Amino acid sequence: MAFGFFKKKNEHTLPGKVTTDKEALFCYGFDASSAEGIPSAVVSPLNTQEVSDVAAYAFKHDVPIVPRGAGSGMTGGSVPMNEAVVLSLEGMNRIIEIDEKNMVASVEPGVINFHLQEKLEDVGLFYPPDPASMKFCTLGGNVAENAGGPRAVKYGVTKDYVLGLETVLPDGRVLMTGGKTYKGVVGYDLTRLLVGSEGTLGIITKIFLKVLPLPEETVTMLCTYKTLDAAAQTVSRITSSSVIPRALEFMDNESIRAVENYGSFGLPADAEALLLIEVDGPRAAVIEEAEKIAAMCKALDGNVSIAEDVFSKQRIWDARRAISPALYRIRPTKINEDIVVPRGRIPEMLKALREIADKKDLIIANFGHAGDGNIHVNVMTDKDDEGEYRKARESVRDIFEAALKLGGTISGEHGIGLTKKQYMGMELSDVSIEIMKKIKNVFDPKGILNPGKMFPSDTYK
Ligand SMILES: Cc1cc2nc3c(=O)[nH]c(=O)nc-3n(C[C@H](O)[C@H](O)[C@H](O)COP(=O)(O)OP(=O)(O)OC[C@H]3O[C@@H](n4cnc5c(N)ncnc54)[C@H](O)[C@@H]3O)c2cc1C
Repeated sequence: MAFGFFKKKNEHTLPGKVTTDKEALFCYGFDASSAEGIPSAVVSPLNTQEVSDVAAYAFKHDVPIVPRGAGSGMTGGSVPMNEAVVLSLEGMNRIIEIDEKNMVASVEPGVINFHLQEKLEDVGLFYPPDPASMKFCTLGGNVAENAGGPRAVKYGVTKDYVLGLETVLPDGRVLMTGGKTYKGVVGYDLTRLLVGSEGTLGIITKIFLKVLPLPEETVTMLCTYKTLDAAAQTVSRITSSSVIPRALEFMDNESIRAVENYGSFGLPADAEALLLIEVDGPRAAVIEEAEKIAAMCKALDGNVSIAEDVFSKQRIWDARRAISPALYRIRPTKINEDIVVPRGRIPEMLKALREIADKKDLIIANFGHAGDGNIHVNVMTDKDDEGEYRKARESVRDIFEAALKLGGTISGEHGIGLTKKQYMGMELSDVSIEIMKKIKNVFDPKGILNPGKMFPSDTYK
């Protein structure tokens, strides 16, 4: 049996790092999506050599492997299928170096995003990608999903910071791509290919990240609206103006009420929508930019308030980061999609979402990174209510169709994993999927690394 090896390895060369205990395995069988599966074992390597040893053995014996960070993914990417072995990278959590001279941080994949942020701030540096899950997700998971966050509107997403990667291939060989240089065009850009590959091409064991100087000043403001459309129109005005905010987040009334219900953060529950806007940079410039943005908000009847101190700023962000768990107060099951449309088309997309909710008589709560055109669409339902759940599942296709019709995409940051693979063909042509499958086959000819993910069929040949 597949995990006989891992037990044996445990006894001889990997003491204490292999688990086959049933209760422990259960903890590695899910992520933040609705997908579930039970691994046949969990292996927790502590360095690249151990990852390579495990991969080489698994390759030789056809054992499927699933790389896993913190398991906070939204699409089932780290959920094991077909009795796969979970390779947990949690223990590889060292910040190897903060190279201030070259403005590069080198980390192991299990480092929690927020831990790096804190360490960098101590020396006046800044790593912009800030997924709302940053206090618990890993940088390896961020790279594998090309994670974004509120600050992406100004600073971009994970791929814009990855300079180099060390990756263990499914057969155990170690591949080095890029490094500490800010440029490099020798051959195909394999680093970019690995970013966002959802653990299907290789196991990332070391990451070189570009870092920036910490901005001198940040101003955080909230703007509430009596109509959803006014908020959406404000987003379009800001994104086509000369000011680039560092965050431009949106919440509709369902989301605002859910958050207030959950934690009493002081958000106005009667507002139809709100925008959380942040600007950063040199002090004088920031004040001028904040004034320009406030004027744009007020021109569309927005009610603007500015966070006066660090605690008020923190409270606003805590409220924003509480949305995902708070939504479960509405209904016990959440179908969470993260569509993106060209930024100027947000008003049309929000209108389409409202029409879908009305037509299907469903509660759909929307929030997200409006500055990127990225809306997190949450169809709130109950898995045990068969009729409603069926309608909710059907609405996903309508949501994707509406986004694609507006020139958008079905995922901005959560990836495809298990839960979205049946929809991949709605967006990508047969040619695209065929090329991707061929790439998968080059990296993983046996199809044993994170099998069953991303592609509508498991056949990679
Ligand atoms: C409350 C909440 C808020 C969130 N907010 C955001 C957000 O704002 N932006 C955003 O982008 N995402 C967000 N997410 C989704 C999730 O946190 C991100 O996708 C994150 O990058 C996943 O990291 P992880 O360590 O949990 O990875 P996991 O969930 O463990 O794995 C995710 C994928 O990466 C692969 N993987 C993990 N580590 C490695 C590795 N070392 N090598 C190769 N493959 C690997 C796995 O196989 C899997 O396919 C949110 C999730 C939650 C629960």
